[in-house]
Amino acid sequence: MRILVGGINHESNTFNPIITGAEDFVVFYGEDILDTSKNTAHDSAAAGIIRALKKAGCAIVPAVLARAVPNGVVSASFYHGYKTDFLRRAQAALESGPLDGVCLALHGSMKVEGLGCAEGDLTGALRELLPGIPFTVALDMHATITPALLNTVNGFVGYKTAPHVDCAETGEHAAAMLLDTLATGKKLSTAYRRVPMLIAGEKSESEAEPMRSLIMRCREAETRPSIAAASFLLGFPWADDEHNAVSVLVSAFDDAKDVAEAIAGELADVFWARRGDFVFRTEHYDSADAVSAAYHAVLEENKRPVFISDSGDNPTAGAAGDATDVLEKILATIDTVEKLPTPLLYSGFYDAPAVAACIKAGTGARADITLGGNWDTVNGKKIPLGVDVLRIVKGYGPYQSDVVFAAWRNIRFVITSKHIGFGDENLLPALGVNAADYCLVVVKLGYLEPCFRRIAARAVMATSKGCSNEVLETLPYRKVQRPLYPLDDAD
Ligand SMILES: [Zn+2]
Repeated sequence: MRILVGGINHESNTFNPIITGAEDFVVFYGEDILDTSKNTAHDSAAAGIIRALKKAGCAIVPAVLARAVPNGVVSASFYHGYKTDFLRRAQAALESGPLDGVCLALHGSMKVEGLGCAEGDLTGALRELLPGIPFTVALDMHATITPALLNTVNGFVGYKTAPHVDCAETGEHAAAMLLDTLATGKKLSTAYRRVPMLIAGEKSESEAEPMRSLIMRCREAETRPSIAAASFLLGFPWADDEHNAVSVLVSAFDDAKDVAEAIAGELADVFWARRGDFVFRTEHYDSADAVSAAYHAVLEENKRPVFISDSGDNPTAGAAGDATDVLEKILATIDTVEKLPTPLLYSGFYDAPAVAACIKAGTGARADITLGGNWDTVNGKKIPLGVDVLRIVKGYGPYQSDVVFAAWRNIRFVITSKHIGFGDENLLPALGVNAADYCLVVVKLGYLEPCFRRIAARAVMATSKGCSNEVLETLPYRKVQRPLYPLDDAD
């Protein structure tokens, strides 16, 4: 069996004005994709697909695999270049013999300048080139389902965990569906239902209700004969797109088509019935109250480290990473910051000009910078600070970002030259920083990553202003189909 494999992973926040370009993507071509110990992250969906197909003895035809940190929409030139390359490689593969199937790892909520939802455009072009062969896809739980995607792919399976820890397993599942349809000759198709709602990311952790029970229903459905996969795709709340909503997809072999339709209807009904149960599980306040609560925990309750999530400007949810709502609240209370037993650690800001100024000044020198407000000019302003440059790391991580650690009064800032986010557990150690040494840590994140959760004496979420504002009712949606819960009253 010759199976075409590839994919693209980007979550595009349409409220963020940054255009995600070629320099933001890591791209692997052809045979390079197959090295799941090096090039393709071993815990990714693509790695799961590759391992499952290799195990089954398939001849894998690797095309192109690309990923970037969530950010603003993707540049048209990058996407069209990627797509052209992908199709050229598929065409070349066809010239040396027939392909038996296609299995891709896609996010599902990538948006491209002038195009909108991108995944259906890619799968449509592949389907045109490869009519009639089975085609399965592994999707992120935050995928947006469009008619173009639905009509060109036979089988879908989405992640069942948030935070996403089952990506490789989902890739294996997508490959297994493809192998089953090839082995049995039974056709695979997908039942779809739209649930008219959006859910803020921090309300849908899969370990908490209602997601835990809802996902259990999917797993139960998957035990039924000829039901290949059952998934909830939640859409991506920080994208203003006409297709954005929760979707239910149930992929089944042709002897269970009617059953799949019935299950999709049941799953959609039960999801809708539980819409009021999606609530924040963590202690949360607006930015000013979150900062006050954190000071109180440190100074009055002697807790440390106390974490504040600057959730409205979370770069790993595609926000700009330079909004200053929380920083402004901290600067307005600088007298209290000066009383803290250790500096306040702020990780961090995406600010390329600030990093360049710090590098120019050099380690140990004073640099006059402005922090924030380069991109998110709605929720951020350029705040002038004379900082002491403590440490500089050049070319950090797969995206090759320069990173600076700088001091201003009793605050320590982590500043990156590229939009890489602040959930990476290796970032602070690379700067020689141990978060546990600080009494108060502010991170531009939503729910805390395990590396922070493990050490947090108390975690407070600031429902701050930014492109990933958790209070969806306050976002300026124009294109989403209404009514949409919770933007509109559904009772
Ligand atoms: Zn996701």
